[in-house]
Amino acid sequence: MKVLSPVLGLYFQDFPIKSAKGMYVIGEDGKKYLDFSSGIASCSTGHCHPTVVAAATKQLKNLIHICIGVALYEPYVKLGEELQKILPLKDAMIFACQSGSEAIEAALKLAKYATKKPGIIAFKGAFHGRTLGALSITTSKMKYREGYEPLLSEVYVAPFDLRVVEGLLKTHQIAGVIIEPILGEGGYVVVEKAFLQGLRKLCDKYNSLMIIDEIQTGIGRTGKWFGFEHAGIVPDIITLAKGIASGMPLGICAAKKEVMDKWSPGAHGSTFGGNPVSCSAAVATLAVIKSKKLVENADKLGSYLKDCLLKLKTKYPVIKEIRGMGLMLAVDVVEPLVAKQIITKCLEKGLLLISTGADGNAIRFIPPLIVTKKDVDKAIGIFEKVLKTI
Ligand code: PMP
Repeated sequence: MKVLSPVLGLYFQDFPIKSAKGMYVIGEDGKKYLDFSSGIASCSTGHCHPTVVAAATKQLKNLIHICIGVALYEPYVKLGEELQKILPLKDAMIFACQSGSEAIEAALKLAKYATKKPGIIAFKGAFHGRTLGALSITTSKMKYREGYEPLLSEVYVAPFDLRVVEGLLKTHQIAGVIIEPILGEGGYVVVEKAFLQGLRKLCDKYNSLMIIDEIQTGIGRTGKWFGFEHAGIVPDIITLAKGIASGMPLGICAAKKEVMDKWSPGAHGSTFGGNPVSCSAAVATLAVIKSKKLVENADKLGSYLKDCLLKLKTKYPVIKEIRGMGLMLAVDVVEPLVAKQIITKCLEKGLLLISTGADGNAIRFIPPLIVTKKDVDKAIGIFEKVLKTI
């Protein structure tokens, strides 16, 4: 630990692991932990899925890096083609980078560049990342911002109130409005469908771009390919990361052609963005999700898991609320210390869970999308055993 920066916020002070496979993480001591954290909603196909490993390994031996600015390579293009098949954007085009935060930076820059307007509207409690642009629209925990302000100007943080948003759009030059369909780090609060629909209308009325941050909700996690699909709307720009490459670092800023066409060559870029190995892992991830029907599995097992958690809520008053959709669920126990106690005890019993929310008061259930009923039953069994001791 002497070599790691103290800035790293650790969920566990002492949890060294050596490997992971499928639904399990293996501790340094050889103990197996059922993983309901998925590397923070990233290992969508489970740990080291053989198809993803094979694709990445083959790519490693073929071409590790060249930079898309230097030469075109197939995995980047293929990923664009595969994403175009599932993204409802008109003639979707992609810009690939390495992380969620970078995808957000790209989306903000694209919105400003394409509209020639300066302003951005974001929402209270949102988390969009830690780079300075993404941090400017992040308010899920004030700890993230302290010591770094002032941040980007022309950013307006709105409450979830369409009248307030319209007031801002009317009186300011707003390039884009950015929103998560479910507040991720903000505690798994689901944004109402009517709100997303109203926002879509307002963006059209005031010629602002609607940006949806699907970094945590996307790629099947909520039981649909993308969280916004539950509201029956289509945004203009979409950001992806986390689950898209089963844990390999990759971020995507996707937009409809009409918007992307306005971005001039060289106006943005990245040396490693869309790395061939990450793109190959992403193409394989999408193929596994399709062939194994993992989006449907997230919907089905998500409903089952939610029912199990709701049953526990009726038995254990410590549980105040169950929130979320698909396999993006959280158990709110209100007290951060209680959440921590439950999570620690679950880990001791072989179940890996992490928290979310402004104070870490909600316990998330975000297993890989390959989760089975048996896995859910095992996790619920451990969780209930722990609840009995609280
Ligand atoms: N947006 C959302 C919705 C996220 O959940 C996250 C990561 N928690 C990010 C952006 C930032 O992603 P990264 O940590 O890869 O920069």
